[in-house]
Amino acid sequence: MERGTAVVIGGGLAGLLAAWALRGYAERIVIVERDRYPEGPAFRSGVPQARHAHLLLEAGHRALEELMPGAREELLAAGAVRVPMSGVRWLSAAGWLAEYESEVAFLSCTRPLLDHTVLRRVRAEPSVRWLENTDVVGLLGTPGELTGVQVRARGDARARVRELGAEMVVDASGRTSSVPAWLARLGCPPIPRSASTRGCRTPAGCTTARPGWIRASTRSICRPRPRRAQARRGAARGG
Ligand SMILES: Cc1cc2nc3c(=O)[nH]c(=O)nc-3n(C[C@H](O)[C@H](O)[C@H](O)COP(=O)(O)OP(=O)(O)OC[C@H]3O[C@@H](n4cnc5c(N)ncnc54)[C@H](O)[C@@H]3O)c2cc1C
Repeated sequence: MERGTAVVIGGGLAGLLAAWALRGYAERIVIVERDRYPEGPAFRSGVPQARHAHLLLEAGHRALEELMPGAREELLAAGAVRVPMSGVRWLSAAGWLAEYESEVAFLSCTRPLLDHTVLRRVRAEPSVRWLENTDVVGLLGTPGELTGVQVRARGDARARVRELGAEMVVDASGRTSSVPAWLARLGCPPIPRSASTRGCRTPAGCTTARPGWIRASTRSICRPRPRRAQARRGAARGG
């Protein structure tokens, strides 16, 4: 597709990067995002996990750099930290992993900084249009052809539903996506689903380390394991 409109449902990290990748293929790329983006690197409700520590594994920051040359330097200049895997103490569900030498490093920064760095780039792209504070509420078309999406001002069930025509629709609305249900409403057969992490959840919690518990020279990653007491003993040993 070299002309026409591509609509991206959801302007999280996947949606922003999909829009960026579509430059040059679609004449117009419209990102429809439920939230209004904050001015700077700040929390927003569509990314509830953003208050937790985040990191990009080697393949992640490499892929970002390939897609957006210079993004890694921008993140580092803004305070992101490169953490070499060599010397990291890693407590997995199976216990402490052996330490090993490696060229691999991950990039650690806050989630708002990562999202804002990517957003700023996409904001500068003239072929990208924005519909913020707007919900996608359905799809348009037939089982044979998708012709666009239905949108409505966020959270106002009485607001007028508008139609947005598109030659391509990208679903980047995250794990709570309604697209399978909307496709069913158009009469499409259920989409085949494959999941490699069926039933997995990312547990979330905040912990305050006791003074002196973590030595400044030690980088530790702790993954929870089912028997809490054991994990606590392991974490204390590594700290
Ligand atoms: C506690 C926790 C820690 C994590 N740590 C890491 C980490 O360190 N490193 C890492 O790489 N990953 C981490 N992840 C995973 C990572 O956060 C997700 O994989 C990532 O956010 C998925 O991005 P996404 O753009 O696909 O979806 P989302 O971030 O869910 O974005 C979806 C977007 O779509 C919008 N939206 C949804 N529905 C609609 C609609 N109908 N209309 C309009 N807009 C809509 C939402 O507002 C949102 O902006 C973590 C996750 C959790 C829960």
